[in-house]
Amino acid sequence: MAIERTFSMIKPDATRRNLTGAITKMLEDAGLQVIASRRVWMSRREAEGFYAVHKDRPFFGELVESMSAGPTVIQVLQGENAIAKNREIMGATNPTQAAEGTIRKTHALSIGENSVHGSDAPETAAVEIAYWFSETEIVG
Ligand code: ADP
Ligand code: MG
Repeated sequence: MAIERTFSMIKPDATRRNLTGAITKMLEDAGLQVIASRRVWMSRREAEGFYAVHKDRPFFGELVESMSAGPTVIQVLQGENAIAKNREIMGATNPTQAAEGTIRKTHALSIGENSVHGSDAPETAAVEIAYWFSETEIVG
């Protein structure tokens, strides 16, 4: 397995409940290293741009609304097989279907307010990292 980088977000529903440390600990305990981190309050426009792939989905308006409703912690994670590993630790999109011990099973409120984001493939990881971070902010 190769060392990979992936993009992660601790969403507003989680920062609002003071879960930044608890969620980061779950990522670190799984062997992922936080090599960039910043707290942002994204604008509607930034949220729309980031989630443009979902623009025709019925939940798009709700998604943009919830992502711009408060602070998000954006991170780059690095480690062995980081993209798939992060998705595994996150759990299924719908917390009612997420496995025990996953971030979403433990912390998510609903399918929309599901506490974390993680890139789903190497191509999306590269695009998502570059959307928020410059190379000099990533110290791996
Ligand atoms: P994931 O975040 O697991 O990769 P998707 O890429 O399919 O999931 O969706 C992006 C985000 O959009 C989800 O994390 C969730 O916040 C929101 N979302 C997805 N499906 C729904 C839905 N049916 N209703 C409300 N929000 C949804
Ligand atoms: Mg996704």
